Amino acid sequence: DAKKPVVLVAGKVNPRIIERLGDRFELVHAEKHARLSLGANVATEVRGAVVSGDFPTDWMAELPKLEIIGSFGVGYDGVDVREAAARGITVTNTPDVLNDEVADTAIGLLINTVRQLPRAEDWLRGGNWVPGSNFPLSPLSLKGRKVGIFGLGRIGLEIARRLEGFKVAIGYHTRSRRDDVPYTYYPGLLSMAEAVDTLICIVPKTPETHKAINAEVLSALGPRGVLINVGRGWSVDETALIGALEKGIIAAAGLDVFYDEPHVPAALMEFSNVCLLPHVASASVDTRNAMADLVADNLHAWFAEGRALTPVPETPIPPRRN
Ligand code: NDP
Repeated sequence: DAKKPVVLVAGKVNPRIIERLGDRFELVHAEKHARLSLGANVATEVRGAVVSGDFPTDWMAELPKLEIIGSFGVGYDGVDVREAAARGITVTNTPDVLNDEVADTAIGLLINTVRQLPRAEDWLRGGNWVPGSNFPLSPLSLKGRKVGIFGLGRIGLEIARRLEGFKVAIGYHTRSRRDDVPYTYYPGLLSMAEAVDTLICIVPKTPETHKAINAEVLSALGPRGVLINVGRGWSVDETALIGALEKGIIAAAGLDVFYDEPHVPAALMEFSNVCLLPHVASASVDTRNAMADLVADNLHAWFAEGRALTPVPETPIPPRRN
């Protein structure tokens, strides 16, 4: 059907996106190499694209009729939104539908890190639980902790709400203070790190958040300090973190995200006081389906009604004209 808008599927995406788009769009697929491998006659017809992670920026110039890029995930640092905005391309992300899942994972990772529960399970499965043997007591506990959340947006707020049930002190650092929350505001990341012993990172990847959690911040957390990162690996100086763990400058870390995924520094794997997850904070079938639906719904809304449901703030492009 020549009338169906052509949508480019960039690399591998959640299969539900493809299912949800198949009826109304003509789908074309391309591997995510820097050069777009589509026939020129196809490339000039592409009006929409869907992607998970990085969208090759050079493709934008090769897709003259591209109107919208639906990006899977709430963080859209893999799409050059300035270039898209300059070309009049709307970019959409998948906010809110993953807040609960990511916040739940953050809490799970925090408890696993302070109580070493994954290690205890490994110990059991390893056949070590025999009469007279006990897994060593965890040196750390969640009880009485002071938690500082770096980023109190959609997900950070859900993490804070969950933490209320754990009777810990809750503070946060963002650039603008929120007047709708009861938590302690810290105008600086360092001043927060000095005041708390547990730091949870859930800020986006931006030039300002690059290696924001550095040696100084880790040292301010102190010897009982725990770092939890469910935001982006980009925000942590991994070399400084490895040094801080080696020297006992902080006590433990729980990481879902890494600087250069899927590469995890070998040194991090060596520490018994570190919990490592392969970027799974939103990775349940239900939540990934909800994210896939929102990607598809954005494209449907754009081509049926001329407006995107969840455009990113950098591409506030006027509604499409039919
Ligand atoms: P929001 O945009 O709702 O919140 C971002 C928060 O970060 C805001 O409170 C913002 O406050 C703060 N922030 C941004 N820049 C800075 C800065 N330079 N200094 C201090 N605070 C800053 O985003 P979400 O909560 O929806 O998502 C946050 C990020 O989490 C995503 O961008 C993504 O990278 C990551 N993520 C990771 C997942 C995983 O699988 N591990 C899953 C989902 C999300 P203010 O603007 O006032 O500074």
